[in-house]
Amino acid sequence: MLQCTAFTALPPDEALKALGSMEGGPEDASDHLDDKQYVLCVLGEHDEKTEHAAHLWTAETEPSKGLWFLWTESEGGHRVCHRFVTLTMCAVRLHHIEEDYREWCGLYDDHPGPHSFHVRDPLRDAYHAQIRRDARRVYGSDTDDRDEQGDVPR
Ligand SMILES: [Zn+2]
Ligand SMILES: [Zn+2]
Repeated sequence: MLQCTAFTALPPDEALKALGSMEGGPEDASDHLDDKQYVLCVLGEHDEKTEHAAHLWTAETEPSKGLWFLWTESEGGHRVCHRFVTLTMCAVRLHHIEEDYREWCGLYDDHPGPHSFHVRDPLRDAYHAQIRRDARRVYGSDTDDRDEQGDVPR
């Protein structure tokens, strides 16, 4: 099954608060969020009643819990509602017998659709590239200006 293609801008202040107050969260939440200005839905294609879901962090608790950003969109692709939730991770794993290695599902417990190892997205790289371009345009302008000045001969 193909992966859902939705992506959205993460509200940075709320994300920092959610990640910083999470049990078993990263040592430096703001560092971790630096490359998460935009997030992708990691579910398999789903209907519009199901919230899009992006994974932000997995805490090494027992059972392991993940911080998730869930959101819904209008028909025009605008975000309508969003929330941060801590959800137990899906306990299903795939055992590749020949290579003898186990792959855990990367989604949350009771998630809709197939487990993550059955979700494929040939467009993911293209979206990542687009997201990086957008992020550079929005956040990277200061750096660009400095670079240009450095090249001007004096
Ligand atoms: Zn989705
Ligand atoms: Zn699963």
